[in-house]
This record gives sequence, C-alpha cells and structure tokens, in this order.
Amino acid sequence: MQLTDGEDLHYAVLRAPIGICILDAGTLIAEIVNDKFLEVAGKPYNHIRGKFYWDAFAEIRERYEDALAGVVRTGEAYYADEVELMLIRHGREEMIFVTFVYSPIKDKTGTVTKVAVWVLENTKQVVERQMAETARVMAQKERDRLNRFFMQAPTGICIFDGPELVYELVNPTYQQLFPGRQLLGRALLDAVPEVRDQPIWDILQNVYRTGKTFEGYELLIPLARTDTGSIEERYFNFIYQARLNEKEQPDGILVFVIEVTDAVILRNRNMAERKIAEEKSAKLAAIIESSDDAIISKTLDSVITSWNDSAQRIFGYTADEIIGETIYKLIPPDRLEEEPQILSRIKSGERVEHFETRRLTKDGQLIDVSVTVSPLNDLGGNIIGLSKIARDITEQKLNETRKSDFIAMVSHELKTPLTSLNILLQVVGTKLKNNEDGFLATAIQKANIQVKRMTDMINGFLNVSRLESGKILIDKRTFQLDELLAEVIDEANLAGSMHRISFEPERPVSITADRDRISSVISNLIGNAVKYAPGGTGIEINCVVDNGKVVVSVKDEGPGIKPRDIERIFDRYYRVDADHTKHVAGFGIGLYLSAEIIHLHGGDIWVESENGRGATFYFSLPIAKP
Ligand code: ADP
Repeated sequence: MQLTDGEDLHYAVLRAPIGICILDAGTLIAEIVNDKFLEVAGKPYNHIRGKFYWDAFAEIRERYEDALAGVVRTGEAYYADEVELMLIRHGREEMIFVTFVYSPIKDKTGTVTKVAVWVLENTKQVVERQMAETARVMAQKERDRLNRFFMQAPTGICIFDGPELVYELVNPTYQQLFPGRQLLGRALLDAVPEVRDQPIWDILQNVYRTGKTFEGYELLIPLARTDTGSIEERYFNFIYQARLNEKEQPDGILVFVIEVTDAVILRNRNMAERKIAEEKSAKLAAIIESSDDAIISKTLDSVITSWNDSAQRIFGYTADEIIGETIYKLIPPDRLEEEPQILSRIKSGERVEHFETRRLTKDGQLIDVSVTVSPLNDLGGNIIGLSKIARDITEQKLNETRKSDFIAMVSHELKTPLTSLNILLQVVGTKLKNNEDGFLATAIQKANIQVKRMTDMINGFLNVSRLESGKILIDKRTFQLDELLAEVIDEANLAGSMHRISFEPERPVSITADRDRISSVISNLIGNAVKYAPGGTGIEINCVVDNGKVVVSVKDEGPGIKPRDIERIFDRYYRVDADHTKHVAGFGIGLYLSAEIIHLHGGDIWVESENGRGATFYFSLPIAKP
C-alpha cells in the first residue's frame, strides 16, 4: 500500500499514541494497523492485518457492522464515545470502555476509498470515574444515615464546642430535655445556668481538660422548668466524650444522654413500698411466732400451709411434720363434720369466733380449744385460704369446772345456815312488831334485805350447777307478766334503790312460764341496771306485745357495753373488764343464768348499747294462746 505523503507519515501513524487501523472501503480488509490498536484490540498483528475486519472482530460485528457500512456509503464519520464493549482479548472475554471513530478517507472525486478506525481505550478512566461516583453516593448515603440517626435517635445527642462549651449541634431528643430553651449557639452556662454549682459542671470541664471519657449513671441533675422556673430533680444516664482536633487535643465534647427520671422514681417508690411491706410482714411474722395461741393457715382444701411455734407446743407436731397435711389430723373422729361447717360459714361471709371445741394432739390427747377462723383474701377479695387461731383452753375449762364444783358445794353448805338465819329473822321480826325502838325495826328490815340478796345469790350459784348437770326444771304456769314486773320493781324500790324506776304497761299480758325463774331474770336485769348505772338516773322498763311474742326491756343510763363485750356478756362468769365493774361485786353468772332460763322457755335475750350511752337489755317470750 501507498500513502501519499510518504514514509514519515506512515511511521508517525504506526507510533501514534492512539489506535489506528485503516481498512479498504470496498473489502474491509485491514491494511494498516498500529501498535496502539493491537494493544486495545488485545489480538495479534496477523489476526487483523490483511484480514476482513469483521472476521477479526466477530464479537462486535453485529453491533457495528451497519455503522461501518454507513460510513462507506455516506462518507460521514461515525463516533462512539466511551462505549462499553465486550472484546475477546488475549483469548478471554473482557469488558472494556473505548472511544472510537470510523472516519472516511476519500479520493479526489469524493469517493470513500478507505475507512480509518481511531480508537482510545477509556476503561481505566471510566472505572475510576464510576468508582468515584459510587464512593460519592455511598458517602452521601452514609451522611444521610448519620443525619437520620442523629435526628431520630431516641438518645439526646449534642456537641459542645470549645472550652466555653458552646452548643454546636443539638438533636431533637436533646432539645426535648430542655423544652422551651434556646441551646444552639449558646454557651452551656448561658443556656443552662443552674448547672454552674453542680458536680456536672466540674465533670464536663474535666473531660475537656483530660480528654477522658466520662459515663454517668442515674446522676441527679436538678434543672429548672422554663415555664415556672421551679427546680425539678431529674436523673440522667450519659456519656461525655472529648472531641479531638488534628493535634489529638480536645476541642469539644460529644454528649449522649438519656433521661431516666421516671424509672428512677418508680424504682425508688417500689423499693420504699417493698421495704414497708417487708417490715410489715417481718413484724407480722414476729407477732405470729411470739403468740401464745396456735396460728395456722390452711387452703380451702384444708391443707395446712403454715404452723407457728405455739401450734407445735399445743398440738405436738413440728411445722415440718404437719405442713402439707390436712387439718383433719387435729380433729377428733366425732367432730369431723365441724370443718365443712366452718368452711361454709366462712364462705358465706360469716365470722367464726371463739368457737369452743376439742382437738387431738399428736400423742392422741383431747384438748379443749377456742378457735377463731378468718378468711385469707387475695387482692381481688377472693378467699384463697383460712387462718385459724386456736387457744388451748383445757386449763381454763378445768378451772371453770373446779370453780363450779366448789361454788356448788359451798352454796349448798351455806343454804342450811342461811335458811335458819332467815327463820330466826322472821321470828325476831314478829316479836319486835310492837316494839317502840325504830332503829331495831329498820335494822331487821335491812337484815332481811341482805338475807334475801344472799339467798338469791346462792340460788343463782346452785342454779348454775344444776344447769350444768341438766337438773334445772321449768315449772310452767299461766300468770300476768305485767303484774310480775310491777312486783319485782317494788322489791327493787324496797331494797333501797336510788334510781327512778319507771314502768307503764301498755296492757295486761298473760304468759305461760316458770314464774319464779322469769322473776329472777327480771330482777337480775333490774339489779344490774341499779348496780352499774349511777344513782339518781332513770331506769325505764317496758313490756310490748309484738307478733305473738312479748318483749320486755330494761333501759338504763349507765356506762353501757362495748361492742366487743356484747357478744360474750351472756357467757358464764364473763365480766366486762372495765373500771365500772371493778367496784361492783358480782360473779358474772346473772346474765348467763337469765339467758339459759329464757332459752329454756323458747325465748330470746339480747342487749343493745352504744358505748357510754346506757344499755337496754331485752328478752322475748312466746305468749300463751288464749
Ligand atoms: P355480774 O353483774 O354479777 O358481774 P352478770 O352476768 O349479771 O354478772 O353481768 C355480766 C357483766 O355484764 C357484768 O360484769 C357487767 O360488766 C356487764 N353488765 C351487765 N349489766 C350491765 C348494765 N346494765 N350496764 C353495764 N354493764 C352491764
């Protein structure tokens, strides 16, 4: 081949820093190929030189065949800028980027005779550019993420700049810790002056000076409210980390902070509550352990769940032996039905108090106990178990029996001399009838009253022991109750009562009962009113018929009876433990006997009293059918 401008030009083309390949426009056979072109093509010289171009570049023929043909046909150059090509270079497929031109070479008539292919590989630049772009996008993403993190972090984040600690950056969470305060751009002591005298200020300065990170845990920082200015105690967890400049010297502080006030307050409160609860239960445990009574708790299935020292002393079982066993272990065979009864009473909301019964000890002994059972409720008020307090009253029972026996015996022995004394007084009384000496007459009258009192008392004791041995007999006759009441009142007045006793019967009432015994009930009630109410006060007696019953009431203006005594006042030997009883003689059998007598008649006896406002005793009896 021949180039018009000679060897030098040819040489220049071959050495050019751009790939050049010159094709014959008719045959597309490569006539000149330079080194740079071979380098870009990645193919040996003889694969291209003298070969049909599309044989040499079969892998891109489809893509560019038309473009090349177009150049030959139209005489216009074809430019491809930084296109990505898949070339087979050195026997392997490679993706490269190239910029190339198919430029026509025309003869003098304007006919395209040759096509020059100019090519520059840009792979390195493109890849570098692409990498730079990716890096830029990634950096942007990273920045966005950081920004999002910063803006949305549930942790308060801020940056203090310089030794003055000027707020350089504040995220929304941090700002929320100081509602309504301008922080950004202000020095800490300006924006939050109340920290000046707090340890936190020294800590911050220390971090700035030393560069040492500080972690605070539940630190108390009193801060002012912006609205009211009042100081609030607030707690924070935080990290202060020094920001270092190029010289590795602190030039700011990075702060991460979380407010934990609510959690701390809640925990402190819980702790205080738990402490109170623990103290309470410790106290309770101490009381239970030191009690002289057996204190036992059990489930609704009667399984024992706790057992105190006294329970062990009274029943013989240790806690280890008995917890987990049923309470039936303690109940004698003939009283087994008591347990379900107690349970059903408790379930229906009743209380079981001072229930006297007998229980079995570990060594098989029967003991007398007084039992009080109460429900154990959960927080919702449901019964989840029972607590049982059992008092060993064996000794008390024995004492009562001894007392009764003794009183019965003494009373019996006293009766004979008293009867003689009574007869003697009667005789003396008759003999003195006409005597002038007024003193003797009064003395005899007084002696008679005392003898009667003594007789009543002794009869009372004898009645108790008769009652106990079931020997009391009721001798029923029909009589006028209102008349009997009037009689007893007369007697009381005769006996020198200092009270105003009033009685205005509504109408005559006739009943069928043991006149003597009902008389003793009435005289006991009036006697008590006289005994316990101060002299000069009134005693009001009533007798009302109501619904087939007659109700008699004795109302006084004495000290009254406390609620806790009301239930037990009709018990044998029960005396209220109070000042007013200390000075009044009595054995606590009057009301007991009265109650027994009334019950034997099918009636009821009860008392009403508001403490300190007098007492009203009532008894009711069925009325005889006409
Ligand atoms: P006594 O009077 O012999 O002690 P009672 O059985 O008659 O025995 O009475 C029992 C207790 O009830 C008394 O000790 C007293 O404390 C109390 N009591 C009885 N009647 C009255 C009353 N009218 N006012 C205040 N307390 C009373």
